[in-house]
Amino acid sequence: MENTKDIIKKYNIVASKALGQNFLVDKDVVEDILNAAGICEDDLVIEIGPGLGSMTEDIAKRAGRTVAIELDKRLIPVLNTYLFGMNVTIINKDILKVDISKEIIEPYGFKEDGTPYKIKVVSNLPYYITTPIIMKLLEDGIPAELMIFMVQLEVAERMCAVPGTKAYGALSVAIRYYSEPENLFTVFPHSFIPRPGVDSAVVRLELRNKPYCGDVDREIFFKLVKAAFGQRRKTLVNALANSGMFPLNKEQFKDILISMGFDENVRGEKLTIDSFSNLAKKIQLHYNGL
Ligand code: SAM
Repeated sequence: MENTKDIIKKYNIVASKALGQNFLVDKDVVEDILNAAGICEDDLVIEIGPGLGSMTEDIAKRAGRTVAIELDKRLIPVLNTYLFGMNVTIINKDILKVDISKEIIEPYGFKEDGTPYKIKVVSNLPYYITTPIIMKLLEDGIPAELMIFMVQLEVAERMCAVPGTKAYGALSVAIRYYSEPENLFTVFPHSFIPRPGVDSAVVRLELRNKPYCGDVDREIFFKLVKAAFGQRRKTLVNALANSGMFPLNKEQFKDILISMGFDENVRGEKLTIDSFSNLAKKIQLHYNGL
């Protein structure tokens, strides 16, 4: 396969800003991403946004099977030309509208002998919809073991942040609910054409077999996280009481937090995922009228 710079010239591709197109032209970065994914013949790799195939050919050389979902129809003939004869399926669709179980795992998730592939997701994500894509992949509950994403550095920091830091927020808690995240390395703008206006980073998510918080009600847990970080400058008690999302008043929230060993003026950013989980369980009791 020709390199991405030459493909851009040859096909006169004008990158679409609206589709978040920043094509990776640094082969060392591709190599580092694929090594971090540890791709092998046992894997079905789902690539979101293959673009001009900067990573796809190398993924396909290592994986048992590759399925790539690309929204921009201009790029499909280019991908089909360069990936012809390889074990790659290109789907021309918006990833947010793909039923991953039905359209990817059922048809492509099994080897010829019927045993399932291990599923890995690899993507240099379009930055304009980073969070919706990541959350869809996590919430859909696909049986993936690993996801490797290139995202804006600032988003990588939020994904991997720990309590008490400025970057810690609803995204950090959501990511940890589903996975063990690791910010692997930073990638600078000169590795892309066109160059993005921000630094990027590669994040690795090791998916949990079961959500971290076990039997906690998922809806209440995420409502709580949303309310806690929705009004960051307020104390947690005020943020929760003012959110109108729960059948509890300010005094009841205060009592619960004090019973958990927190100061009544604690802010959401101090709570670990375990504390959010315990708090959600206590709120749950009120729903059950206990
Ligand atoms: N993987 C390529 C690379 O590394 O050079 C391209 C990465 S580029 C940052 C993001 C890619 O995602 C683009 O090819 C873009 O067209 C595609 N894309 C944007 N929105 C999409 C969506 N909703 N569903 C699927 N692909 C999308």
